[in-house]
Amino acid sequence: QLPPIDGDFYDLDLKLTQEQRAIQMKVRNFMQDEVEPIANDYWKKAKFPMEIIPKLAALNICGVAYKGYGCPDLPFIMEGIIAEELARVDVSISTFFGVHSGLAMGSIYLCGSEEQKEEWLPRMQKMELIGAFGLTEPNVGSAVAGGMETTCKLEGDEWILNGQKKWIGNATFADVTIIWARDETSNKVKGFLVRKGTPGFTTEKIEDKMALRTVQNAIITLKECRIAEKDRLQNANSFRDTAKVLRMTRAGVAWQAVGCARGAYENALKYTKKREQFGKPIASFQLIQNHLVEMLSNLTAMKTMVYRLSELQDQGLLTDEHASLAKVFCSLRIRDVVSQAREVMGGNGILLEYNVARFVADAEAIYSYEGTKEINTLIVGRAITGYSAFV
Ligand code: FAD
Repeated sequence: QLPPIDGDFYDLDLKLTQEQRAIQMKVRNFMQDEVEPIANDYWKKAKFPMEIIPKLAALNICGVAYKGYGCPDLPFIMEGIIAEELARVDVSISTFFGVHSGLAMGSIYLCGSEEQKEEWLPRMQKMELIGAFGLTEPNVGSAVAGGMETTCKLEGDEWILNGQKKWIGNATFADVTIIWARDETSNKVKGFLVRKGTPGFTTEKIEDKMALRTVQNAIITLKECRIAEKDRLQNANSFRDTAKVLRMTRAGVAWQAVGCARGAYENALKYTKKREQFGKPIASFQLIQNHLVEMLSNLTAMKTMVYRLSELQDQGLLTDEHASLAKVFCSLRIRDVVSQAREVMGGNGILLEYNVARFVADAEAIYSYEGTKEINTLIVGRAITGYSAFV
């Protein structure tokens, strides 16, 4: 009898309550039964499996840590566990979900008025309406806080939006896209709920990505796009409010990195026990065991870190730099884990059907989105030294 294949070596999931564990298992079973069999095919075709949206909705996991508006109101640790379980099988699905439940619903939850929350969150929680989040632009990525080119201008009771956004996940089919724009008068960043089909709002799918191919990322063009004042996020008054959303979702991205690393490690371990060379399973070779143990060490360090991150979040103590440190560490470590997972599989490591190659590619997107390694490093660097090294 060979030992079990499980990336939770320190049994951190024993910290969960029975109810939380049951949710984790529900998500795990869904991902294994419904998503794993189709994940490579959709990734290859660069299409999104729209048919899984009602099944995901039935899991009742959207806005899992938000209070009210039909949301489950569970601890933030569950948001992390869900991100991990989704990414452990398919990082694209985890990203789709993170954009909808974290970035889009989170913007409304943290920056919307009571009426806006009532209007959008219950239907988004049930995934009857899908959200996107438009912050990054073609000319401005890391420097978006100070350099945003998309503008908004108030005319009567309407805002006029002009500009472009790039990389916006879900935007090609989303019912609502949160658009961040700089007010021409006050120079402050404001947020808008832009409904699907609004005149002057167009999307163009970004083709030929080598990572997260299942996620539909778009370039959005806003041309004299008119948005009613009632659809401006009423409590988003400057980029500080946008940053509150990012602090929350960056913690989720660190958990996604854990899921990505865990998926690659577990698939690679399984493979090494089956694959034989020189008449023995390759798992019995010392050099292969060295790779596996290094992967597991990284994975265990990452998972321990994100558990603490979520505890801080649940205690209301999470800072930007806490979230950034986890994002930096976990996105550096996944590169190491997925590349060793690929390595122990030899040539098969680069074939999609062996279920490691997709993690290798997708890790590259986690590495760059929601703040690159450099930007999150500078956020922590500023906090510990008192000096800002951004410019
Ligand atoms: P740039 O800002 O051009 O950076 C290029 C390089 O320069 C990086 O290595 C960066 O770290 C480095 N750099 C920049 N400034 C400094 C500095 N001061 N010091 C040192 N190094 C520096 N955005 C959204 O708004 N919504 C989405 O849904 C979304 N989804 C995404 C999905 C994917 C797959 C990807 C790849 C991106 C997505 N993004 C999204 C955008 C993402 O957040 C940006 O790609 C990211 O913030 C980096 O911006 P950039 O790509 O323009 O790189």
